[in-house]
Amino acid sequence: MLDNRKLKFTLFYVIVALIFLWMLNKSFRPGVKTVPYSKFKQMVKAGAFTQVWVGETEVFGRTGGNKPGTVQNIPSNGPTPPPAPTENDNSSSLSFWNRPNVKAIRVGGDKDLVAQLDKAGIIYSGRIEQPGIIETLLSWILPLGIMIAFWFYMMKRMGQAGQGVMAFGKSRVKIHGENDVETGFDDVAGVDEAKEELQEVVTFLMEPQRYARIGARIPKGVLLVGLPGTGKTLLARAVAGEAHVPFFTISGAEFVEMFVGVGAARVRDLFAQAEKNAPCIVFIDELDALGKSRGAGGLTGGNDEREQTLNQLLVQMDGFDTTTGVIILAATNRPEILDPALLRPGRFDRQVLVDKPDRAGRRAILEVHARDVELSEDVDLDEVAARTPGFVGADLANLLNEAALLAARRGADEVTGLDVDRAIDRIVAGLEKKNRLINPTERKIVAHHEMGHAIVGSCVPGADPVQKVTIVPRGMGALGLTWQTPTEDRYLMTKTELEGKIAALLGGRAAELVFFGEASTGAANDLARATDAARAMVVEYGMSDTLGPIRLAPERNAFLQTPADMFLGSRKEYGDKVADTIDQEVRNIVEGQMERAKKIIESHRQDVAKLVSVLLEKETIDGDEVRKICNNRTKESGSKI
Ligand code: ADP
Ligand code: MG
Ligand code: ZN
Repeated sequence: MLDNRKLKFTLFYVIVALIFLWMLNKSFRPGVKTVPYSKFKQMVKAGAFTQVWVGETEVFGRTGGNKPGTVQNIPSNGPTPPPAPTENDNSSSLSFWNRPNVKAIRVGGDKDLVAQLDKAGIIYSGRIEQPGIIETLLSWILPLGIMIAFWFYMMKRMGQAGQGVMAFGKSRVKIHGENDVETGFDDVAGVDEAKEELQEVVTFLMEPQRYARIGARIPKGVLLVGLPGTGKTLLARAVAGEAHVPFFTISGAEFVEMFVGVGAARVRDLFAQAEKNAPCIVFIDELDALGKSRGAGGLTGGNDEREQTLNQLLVQMDGFDTTTGVIILAATNRPEILDPALLRPGRFDRQVLVDKPDRAGRRAILEVHARDVELSEDVDLDEVAARTPGFVGADLANLLNEAALLAARRGADEVTGLDVDRAIDRIVAGLEKKNRLINPTERKIVAHHEMGHAIVGSCVPGADPVQKVTIVPRGMGALGLTWQTPTEDRYLMTKTELEGKIAALLGGRAAELVFFGEASTGAANDLARATDAARAMVVEYGMSDTLGPIRLAPERNAFLQTPADMFLGSRKEYGDKVADTIDQEVRNIVEGQMERAKKIIESHRQDVAKLVSVLLEKETIDGDEVRKICNNRTKESGSKI
């Protein structure tokens, strides 16, 4: 039970205790002044001492008090001086009342001292250099006793559930078991396929005989795969809640412990507990932290402890069968880095994809979370769902919470549509930086740049409709923003649409060129995205007529590049001539779209200028305004772009 944190804690207390003891020891030593040996001898000569103790390496003397043989001179008030020493007081120990106040270190074997003491007629005695028993007790044993008592007290307080100090080395079983999980399938929305798959697990847990009768075997392990925040953890809990069985959870990262062997011991504990509580669900969150493919540690090298833990998990999974009623759920967002041994039949052989929600799914998720929030009538969750493509469940939950926070800040009782709008903006683009000062020239460039995006984005076919244009600077370095959101979820894109997208991306730079005849640095990110899209058209989608429908991009990992990929670089499967052609084709696409964007802006020059001045004044323009002029103009000139 002594894991790393506790060890640190303990060490800390040992050090504190030592410092404490040292200080205590110092303070219990009598207030003795150390003088040079020469001075000590002078003092002996001058008869300053009433008594002297001579030790092997140190000499002590007591000044003041009554000289032997003199009449005690007792003052009427004030403390009684210590009694004068007598000739028969030759105790070698220093009694409490009879303590020295001057000390010196003897200079190697000085024999004269005794003669001098005789001469001066001072009482002296030898001294064995060893602290008295009471002193020892006071300065060491007592504080130590206090420390140990304190220690036991602390350990008892930390080791909850009756685990004493002596459980050292045994794994600390801290597996969170829950008996009554309140989460149900109702709380999870937008992932209907996953729910359907998991329904089978629920049915099995509730009526195992139904499966046993036919001889059907339920999978031992079900792996939930999906991006972070899609609701994997939530789903696992919901399964336990629906089936009314205990829910044991532990995360992969928790498994991997600093102490060798503890991780593996935990796996054993987990399974032992689970079997005791069967039927139940064991949920291993973030399995990738534990089940990383052996040897795929990349540049960081392997991790023995993790491998041991993983092996133990594999052994345990093989060692029990589902008739015991234990079902293992696990979650990961990176299935491709998992050790293949984990995915073998009899282990996590069933994978359930927990996908990003589509528009209807997002709406359903919003409805789930809207139960806890006071929404005003004017909030249209359907519209919110439409405005949030790419948001996962956690984002949507966060969105409603942000909106509620904004409403609370206003002191309102309800969350309005405006709050939700602002929350979306905030999540997508970061906080507005209203009071950042931007000089008028830059502001003008930004306004033209954003208008350029907006106008091109509105006029080309296939580009996502422009929602609004703003020149309010936001976090993450954006000086202005043109919001373009698709009206529906898209899974495919045509060549025309891709080209339109590239043109819209280049619209900012094109406007700068048209109006100022000069480029600014503001387009760096646009250019990067436009170039990437153009390259993808050529090497991934085979959309270049010159190169034909050949895939030229190196195989890419859908979720994440492994460090090894980055280290070795990607393989190139074509010659230099093709490489040159690729570059040329990418260039042609980008430059062609740039020309197109410039033409669009030039043909709407007047309108763009007008909108720019509105934008400079109001800071934000609605997308409809932009579309209006775009439509008019296209009709007027009759030209189709
Ligand atoms: P994951 O484990 O996939 O990273 P979580 O299950 O931890 O995601 O989700 C975090 C939170 O986001 C949940 O507690 C829940 O509030 C919300 N959430 C995520 N997905 C959904 C969903 N499909 N339906 C409802 N709420 C969801
Ligand atoms: Mg999770
Ligand atoms: Zn831009």
